[in-house]
Amino acid sequence: MFIFAAMTDNITRPEENVQLKKIIAHAKEYGFVYPSSEIYDGLQAVYDYGPYGVELKNNIKDLWWQSMTQLHQNIVGLDAAIFMHPLTWKASGHIDSFSDPMIDNKDSKKRYRADVLIEEKAAVYEQQGDLDKSKNLLKEMGQLLEKENLKGVNELIIRENIVCPVSGTANWTDVRQFNLMFSTQIGSVSEETNTIYLRPETAQGIFVNFLNVQKTARLKIPFGIAQIGKAFRNEIVARQFIFRMREFEQMEMQFFIRPGEEIKWYEHWKAKRLRWHKAMGIPEHKLRFHDHDKLAHYANAAVDIEFDFPFGFKEVEGIHSRTDFDLGNHQELSRKKLQYYDNDINESYVPYVVETSAGADRLFLMILANAYREEEVGEGENRKIRAFLKIHPALTPIKAAIFPLVKKDGLPEVAKKIFDDLKPDFNLIYEDSQSIGKRYTRQDLIGTPYCVAIDHQTLADQSVTIRDRDTMDQVRVNIGELRNEIEKRVSIRNILKELID
Ligand code: ATP
Repeated sequence: MFIFAAMTDNITRPEENVQLKKIIAHAKEYGFVYPSSEIYDGLQAVYDYGPYGVELKNNIKDLWWQSMTQLHQNIVGLDAAIFMHPLTWKASGHIDSFSDPMIDNKDSKKRYRADVLIEEKAAVYEQQGDLDKSKNLLKEMGQLLEKENLKGVNELIIRENIVCPVSGTANWTDVRQFNLMFSTQIGSVSEETNTIYLRPETAQGIFVNFLNVQKTARLKIPFGIAQIGKAFRNEIVARQFIFRMREFEQMEMQFFIRPGEEIKWYEHWKAKRLRWHKAMGIPEHKLRFHDHDKLAHYANAAVDIEFDFPFGFKEVEGIHSRTDFDLGNHQELSRKKLQYYDNDINESYVPYVVETSAGADRLFLMILANAYREEEVGEGENRKIRAFLKIHPALTPIKAAIFPLVKKDGLPEVAKKIFDDLKPDFNLIYEDSQSIGKRYTRQDLIGTPYCVAIDHQTLADQSVTIRDRDTMDQVRVNIGELRNEIEKRVSIRNILKELID
């Protein structure tokens, strides 16, 4: 993150809050996301994934993994540990500069990100139509932060009359830098030298293994290493549901290249990653690139892919040209050569890196926010709102639900047989209680794209109906064709083949 890349999180318009609240309530009620340790009133910015949430998240991760490692001969996977040698974080710059500027209000005892307070003030100017004032304020703050002039940031907060929203006073402490890494002790002795960190990004596990992987998988530059895993950041202001968590999951790929070729590969991955998001069914107008105005210390080019959340366009993935910053520093601090011998040009060098870094939880929220629909159905007295989740069928937690129309006349037996036949192929649900209308509704709410109903006609001609979640249309197919009919609609292949160059 590093302070400059993280200056946009905050302002939520009231009507958009309503939409976010609906999504949060839906996620909890229908088994997607729960607050962590809720019986103890939860733990701020930490969440647990429920039965449908874990399936959806796994599907997103599988898609990412397959589109990286399976579609690219020159990209391989890695699963590095969360704990790493503490010098890793010295080399990466996290010990010295992975921080946000924070400030406390002495009356309310509430803590804020100083940059966020100023951004909120700038947003007020913007809402009042004073765009210049808003821009100048942000510019001034950017310059102060760049020079690490925290006293100046303090003065700016006072000058702008910014008060604590809780106490309403401007009784502020000094602005201090707050390191976002969680630390703990390794071993049984608590000494400074035993301090280790929970990784704040997964990328460093890739960097320190770069030669191991290159040699053992016999890779030639350009090549990539992909990894999915937990990362931890002690965010000062953690809100907007699973958008900003203290424990979250990253999906990162470091692409190792010849120095001087970084811009070519940076453009390549920018385009490719945008295509990936669209292939999941996210409409083009809800995605955009946002170039970083101020680059983090490790990057010579950086862009975010942003999605139009209910609280505005926000980052879901970063693409960064990281030069040889990380490998170079690891080489220096470890005193181990981290070079690659390039046969094609007879030269050894420390490779440059272009990384793609996405958050699995933010993609999850993007998919949920994009999928949540409320539609008016029926006429007259029967008019009602139908809520459903329009998730790409290849990503839904459940692929199809199998229902006997009624719980008698031998229909449950036929339905159960179909369920047993198909369960090795797909994640299915069998349900025979309540009315079929209620059962359809329940599947709509968790995004199940197809419901298969077994009725009296099935007994006569071996045909069943398939109901489509989005259109509610039904088609009749023969039981013998059911596997193919479902497969062609829900296969992850449908997305992967769109991604082949
Ligand atoms: P932000 O500016 O929103 O804090 P960042 O620029 O710090 O994000 P990166 O360090 O580039 O984020 O991390 C890569 C990705 O990891 C982000 O695009 C995001 O999807 C995810 N991510 C980062 N921080 C969090 C968090 N606290 N909670 C959930 N996901 C996160």
